[in-house]
Parts: sequence; structure tokens; C-alpha cells
Amino acid sequence: MKERSRRRGSVVIVSAPSGSGKSTLIRRLLASDAALRFSVSYTTRLPRPGEKNGRDYFFVSAARFRSMAAAGELVEWAEVVGHFYGTSKRQVRAAQRRGEDLLLDIDVQGHRQVRRRLPEAVSVFLLPPSFRELARRLERRHSDAPQVIRRRLANARREMRHWREYDFLVVNDRLPEAVQALRAIVKAARCRRTIQHAVAQRISKTFGGNQA
Ligand code: ADP
Ligand code: 5GP
Repeated sequence: MKERSRRRGSVVIVSAPSGSGKSTLIRRLLASDAALRFSVSYTTRLPRPGEKNGRDYFFVSAARFRSMAAAGELVEWAEVVGHFYGTSKRQVRAAQRRGEDLLLDIDVQGHRQVRRRLPEAVSVFLLPPSFRELARRLERRHSDAPQVIRRRLANARREMRHWREYDFLVVNDRLPEAVQALRAIVKAARCRRTIQHAVAQRISKTFGGNQA
């Protein structure tokens, strides 16, 4: 049996102010790491062009979302710019049990809740190089109207206040370097003692004596 199948799956949380390059970074990270899965959240917002139900999000009604939250099926949930977003408890538990590593793309409110409930999770906050550069990237992306960009920038100011709550900080200045830093964090998350517990116990046993 491969060692990977004996350890628990790790959980890596990534948060960032909108426009920092989080989607770009996550896409690259997932493409280069076959063992890393994206946690597909539930949301009440409508799909954007190109988004697929079950791949990017599970798109659900507000009534369905509320009943999931009330039934305790979400490990965390939050309201972000007028819509609800949440992470399925079952999905996280199944991945941990199967030894699959899971990447959670969630906001600062969700991060606080997951930290309380899953202390073994590792968290990363992505920072843009500066406020000006963030504004430039949002303008260059051409996906939002000027008033939406203004709202995203106001949100970004609020979100930036939370960087102290995270384990790791990655500045997305040069893209390849930021991807490399994220890869290193994912590797380190897999090596956490809490994740490797069963592996260490199995190896300890081969040493005989009182190694528990
Ligand atoms: P987010 O998911 O955080 O909202 P995106 O991934 O959509 O951000 O990135 C916002 C814009 O910035 C996109 O146009 C993207 O191509 C660009 N971008 C991302 N990372 C960098 C970088 N390191 N340098 C320059 N531009 C970047
Ligand atoms: P978007 O609508 O642009 O895909 O996401 C908006 C924000 O919601 C992003 O900051 C994203 O990280 C956050 N988000 C996405 N899924 C979840 C989730 O399951 N829980 C929480 N708390 N935030 C989420």
C-alpha cells in the first residue's frame, strides 16, 4: 500500500482580496498537482459564463442553502456580497478519510470558522503587491463595470485587515514565484504531524519495543 493512502488528507485554505490573482494561482496549482482537489462550494449566486455546476460550484437556491445550513451539513458558510457560500462537511470528511488533499477557496469569514472546526487545516493569505497594482489588475481584467471595481476595491480594503489570522502569506508579484510558494505550502501541509500520524505509527511498529 502506498504511504499516501495511509495518511489523512490535508486541508489548505486560500483567501485573498478580489483581484489579487487567486483564481489564476489556484488554476496553476491544481494543474501541476494531481493529488490536490478543489473543494466545490455551494453558492446561491448564478453561474457566470463558462462556469459549470459541480465543477466550479454547486449552484443552489437560497431555500436549499438555508436547509443545508440548518441541518448542519456545512463546515462553514458566509454571506459574501449578497450571496451565500458554504463548504460541504461531507466533502471535507470524505477527502480527509481517503487521504486526498483539499484546497478551499473561501473568504476570511469562512476561514475563521474552518480554523475553529479543523485545527489541522493550513491557511494562506494572498496579497497583491500594492493597492495600486490591485486596481490596475481589476481594470486590465475587463470583466467588471467601474462601479463593480470600486466595490471590489472597498471589499479588498476590508479583507486586507485579516492577514494576521493566516499561517502563511504569499505576495502575488511575479506569478511563477507565487505558484512555487503555494506549492511548497501544500507540500508542507502534507507533512504535518497530525496528517502523518498513522504513517508514523506504522513505521514506529517496525522498530518494535515500546514505540507507540
Ligand atoms: P482573483 O481570482 O483574485 O479575483 P484573477 O486571478 O482573476 O484574480 O486575477 C486578476 C487579474 O490579474 C487577471 O487579469 C489576471 O490575469 C491578473 N494577474 C494575476 N496574477 C498576476 C500577476 N502575478 N501579475 C500580473 N497580473 C496578474
Ligand atoms: P466568487 O463569487 O467571485 O466566485 O467568490 C466570491 C468570494 O466568495 C471569494 O472571496 C471566494 O473565496 C468566496 N467563497 C467561495 N466559496 C466559498 C465558501 O464555500 N465559503 C466562503 N466562506 N467563501 C467562499
